[in-house]
Amino acid sequence: MGIAVDAPNKGTNGSMAEKKPTVVFVLGGPGSGKGTQCANIAKHFGYTHLSSGDLLRAETRSGSENGTMIRNMMKEGKIVSAKVTIKLLLRAMAESCNDKFLLDGFPRDEESRAAFEDVTKIEPAFVLFFECSEEEMERRLLGRNQVGQPSVPLSGREDDNIETIRKRFKVFSESSLPVIEHYKSRGKVRTIDAGRPIEEVFESVKAFFISKNEVKSHCCAWL
Ligand code: UDP
Ligand code: MG
Repeated sequence: MGIAVDAPNKGTNGSMAEKKPTVVFVLGGPGSGKGTQCANIAKHFGYTHLSSGDLLRAETRSGSENGTMIRNMMKEGKIVSAKVTIKLLLRAMAESCNDKFLLDGFPRDEESRAAFEDVTKIEPAFVLFFECSEEEMERRLLGRNQVGQPSVPLSGREDDNIETIRKRFKVFSESSLPVIEHYKSRGKVRTIDAGRPIEEVFESVKAFFISKNEVKSHCCAWL
């Protein structure tokens, strides 16, 4: 689909695919526990955890020309253009010394999915899907708010308020679920019941990584 994204390092976008880093996409609604579980997976299995949401938030703080646009999109729960997000992800991957990445919260829509595949030629090893009811996700997200001070979320996130949370749910079901369906039809989705306590969820998550015969390792093999 011809999206123009600058090569993140001295090689070409093509060279990244030739070196074949292992990429696992981690998807699930807002509050489904992606970030928490990715931190556990990174620690136990030696992956580098890259949250596209965190990279976008960092970009808004960096004073870059896109910062204001990104901040306004995020405040509304809207999906930032694939070009911007992919550029940040590829830069972070190139800067890492690792060859195994958890992409947390990416790709969030069909455009990002197709553009990432087009630019990098990388297919995810699998897609981890944290399935959770909206009721539970809403409870968790609102739990990040200070008691009596709902305008000041403990998370410090401008999008952890009830109006934006509802918009994020809508965007998830309209735009992100089709990405999960795409990978389901290719047998790549590993679904986790994410409505349980953190430790229990991690036990289920572990099984998918152990069966992949993962060992903790760091190397620069793909650079
Ligand atoms: N976002 C985006 N593209 C991405 C990831 C995040 O546009 O690939 C934006 C989007 O506005 C989203 C917000 O960043 O609502 C927060 O994303 P994050 O993954 O941090 O939070 P989650 O909604 O999963 O809790
Ligand atoms: Mg997150």
